[in-house]
Amino acid sequence: MKILFCASEVSPFAKTGGLADVAGSLPGSLQKLGCDVRIFMPLYRGVRNAAGSIELLAGDIIVPVGVHDYHVHIWEGRTETGIPIYFLEKEEFYDRSYLYGSPVRGDYEDNPERFIVFSRAVRQLCLALDWYPSTFHLHDWQTGLIAAYFQLNWRYDSNFLRSGTVFTIHNIAYQGLFPPEIFGLTQLPPSAFSIAGMEFWGQCSFLKAGLVYSDFLTTVSPRYSREIQTPEFGFGLEGLLKERRESLAGILNGIDTNVWNPETDPLIPANYSSEDLSGKKMCKSVLCKELNFPPDSLDLPLLGMIGRLATQKGFDLLEKILPDLMKLPVNLVILGTGDSSIEENLKETALLFPDKLKVLFEFDEKLAHLIEAGADIFLMPSRYEPCGLNQMYSLRYATIPVVHATGGLDDSVIDVLKEPDSGTGFKFYKYEPQSFLDSVKSAIQMFNNKEIWMEIQMRAMAQDFSWDRSAREYIKVYEKASSRKRIGIPRRTDL
Ligand code: ADP
Repeated sequence: MKILFCASEVSPFAKTGGLADVAGSLPGSLQKLGCDVRIFMPLYRGVRNAAGSIELLAGDIIVPVGVHDYHVHIWEGRTETGIPIYFLEKEEFYDRSYLYGSPVRGDYEDNPERFIVFSRAVRQLCLALDWYPSTFHLHDWQTGLIAAYFQLNWRYDSNFLRSGTVFTIHNIAYQGLFPPEIFGLTQLPPSAFSIAGMEFWGQCSFLKAGLVYSDFLTTVSPRYSREIQTPEFGFGLEGLLKERRESLAGILNGIDTNVWNPETDPLIPANYSSEDLSGKKMCKSVLCKELNFPPDSLDLPLLGMIGRLATQKGFDLLEKILPDLMKLPVNLVILGTGDSSIEENLKETALLFPDKLKVLFEFDEKLAHLIEAGADIFLMPSRYEPCGLNQMYSLRYATIPVVHATGGLDDSVIDVLKEPDSGTGFKFYKYEPQSFLDSVKSAIQMFNNKEIWMEIQMRAMAQDFSWDRSAREYIKVYEKASSRKRIGIPRRTDL
């Protein structure tokens, strides 16, 4: 089985969120199961450093976008586990400070061009390698057009006759919506700009292209796959997803247990395991010191929160409960980047509770590991959460999560209050401040019962979130996608 991962971010080369973690770790598990898996991503600024030695695979390839011909290069490298990874170089598009846009000025205006070029270069990559995947595994809106190019053009090429496409929705709220004028740049047949194609209420939706034209769709947890078929979570695409439900599967993300393993994690000051949690205490002590919490803080439960500063992540609930939460015997550390209004609100509140609340607005992988290891309780009150990775990292690091029972949070955390003998965390079921606060209070109360708390920690650490099981499910999906009976009149095209 030959799989080409096409993703706009892949850890450790470039990352803004969970997509990068998935694209960086699932390929390794597929390879272990015997797949010939390769990865394609843009050569952003900083990638060259992270990638070590890379070699030119194909230089001066011409990719047409509208009336422009862009000259691009494709570089070849290897991931740490030896997986071939190809990088699309086009300085004017990818050599920038951010992946998709700046926090101050918003999304880059030429994002359509940037990801049309990336999408169209996929075929050129296959030709340069003379390697044709059985499945193109596409991820999120940035790669939606690849499905359209494949379905409407490439599949008629004899090289691709046995190929199929799988599109994974990591977050349906991000749709790659652009004004209708940009449709011309895609050079897709006019019929593709219709309700049965990639048109979404008069606009061009790259995500919808992926949803309409891919052979099979997946999303990152079973519950989210059901949620996105409802108006509350479907962001206007619920009807289409309902129609395609026979070709939609929810597969819970795994975690990279090499990167997120308290027994071996090189980014934390002391390692620990379920047999001996003393290293966790040391991590808490280092974290408290680094954050300048007062010396007596070690006995108080330390709450942690890491994530994009976006309303999706439940910061509206957090802001509402913060004054009450800060009256409790707890400390809280928040690490995140994103929405500047959320940042401002948190900053203001932090000024009121300088000894109890620390907020850090940076993207810091090392600190993220230290918080996972050093905190006692992890907060994840997301309004919706396709899968969520931090709650799984937390479970593995014996940092008990408090989560809103939605999407992957609901699928990966077992409620201690409902199932005391198997519970691994605390869940609240109504997206309301009081429910969230009550849930945090339950966790704090339980934290003070050291014996029960330790039992919960042991169960949390024993959960298996390795990729192996999910990778096997993906292989079944790849088989379905590439065995799809294709209809249509073969014709050659160089789109
Ligand atoms: P999403 O993909 O919606 O952002 P996930 O929970 O699936 O959320 O994945 C987020 C990933 O990004 C996790 O690996 C998390 O640790 C990481 N992350 C988010 N914000 C930061 C930050 N400020 N610093 C370091 N890592 C972060």
